[in-house]
Amino acid sequence: MDLTKKFDLKSADYDSLCAYMAQIGEKKFRATQIYEWMHVRHVTSIDEMTNLSKKLREQLKEQCTFTVLKQLDVQISKQDGTRKYLFGLADGNVIESVLMRYKHGNSVCISSQAGCRMGCRFCASTLDGLARSLTPAEMLEQIYRIGCDIGERISNVVVMGSGEPLDNYDNLLVFIRMLTDTHGLNISQRNLTVSTCGLVPRIRELADLKLQITLALSLHASSQEKRKELMPVANKYELADVMAACDYYFSQTGRRVTFEYSLVGGVNDTDADVEGLCRMLKGKNCHINLIPVNPIKERDYVQSERAVVEAFRQKLEKNGINATVRREMGRDIDGACGQLRKRHMDAAQTGT
Ligand code: SAH
Repeated sequence: MDLTKKFDLKSADYDSLCAYMAQIGEKKFRATQIYEWMHVRHVTSIDEMTNLSKKLREQLKEQCTFTVLKQLDVQISKQDGTRKYLFGLADGNVIESVLMRYKHGNSVCISSQAGCRMGCRFCASTLDGLARSLTPAEMLEQIYRIGCDIGERISNVVVMGSGEPLDNYDNLLVFIRMLTDTHGLNISQRNLTVSTCGLVPRIRELADLKLQITLALSLHASSQEKRKELMPVANKYELADVMAACDYYFSQTGRRVTFEYSLVGGVNDTDADVEGLCRMLKGKNCHINLIPVNPIKERDYVQSERAVVEAFRQKLEKNGINATVRREMGRDIDGACGQLRKRHMDAAQTGT
């Protein structure tokens, strides 16, 4: 451990925190106390850790960074109570997170990066490229701040906000470990979903860890050619290889993969598209989530007609493929990935 650099206290998993405390000559139970202050009680400053000596608190303040996100804005949907948060990071970057309230509990959708470099054509998060990846603490904090804001337990987490989680792989793994740690929020791995645009080697690595998290794969097309038009990442990875990696994930973990398919009017919602999809997914133990595309002003993509969406879904079901249309939560607020952040950044730039 390099003690010349500040130690990122909230990004340290339990074992690393224990090791750090040992290194500065403190007992292990101190690590347990500090971990609880941060990851169970979600305090916003080291000074609030009142069972530590003043001296230790001062030492930690000097030697460590302590990540707390600043809530810059929140939009609350009048339709369904969905809340979209805009958070400020210590370096001035901004990210967004969403709270969705379901009958089965509260679900938070977090960002894994500020911006994104994957370039999917219909996505607002990628328009200004990648600013940087988030630390484990910054990923956790999104959940902690929202939990504190509503004063309720968060039971589900989806890593489906801005950014490509598998492009921030090491931090993602620490985040998963900490989120599901019995010393922390203790969220079950089964209540965590990680969504990827399909970074094949990373999917395989993740599969080998045999975690019980759900993998969601952003498919959006049933042919390599069409996928390339919508998702530049398809230039790097062939659709057949992406599908093989998903099969591998299932074989290693026993967890059924979710496929996401954003329906874009006239682009990927034709009969040929659904037939291709049926051929590709038939017989697989999977689930497909159809998302009517959320139009962004920078692109001229439109949503598929409702009837087209429904026919698409029925055709999949007829072929034995489990399909649902994603409920559009929070349509009355800047719903689509990265829209709120983008609007905030554009306003900051023009000084409005
Ligand atoms: N990088 C990850 C997480 C991104 S967002 C991934 O690609 O999976 C989660 C999902 O929302 C992805 O399937 C993404 O393609 C989709 N998405 C992004 N912008 C959208 C929009 N404007 N309308 C519909 N779906 C969108």
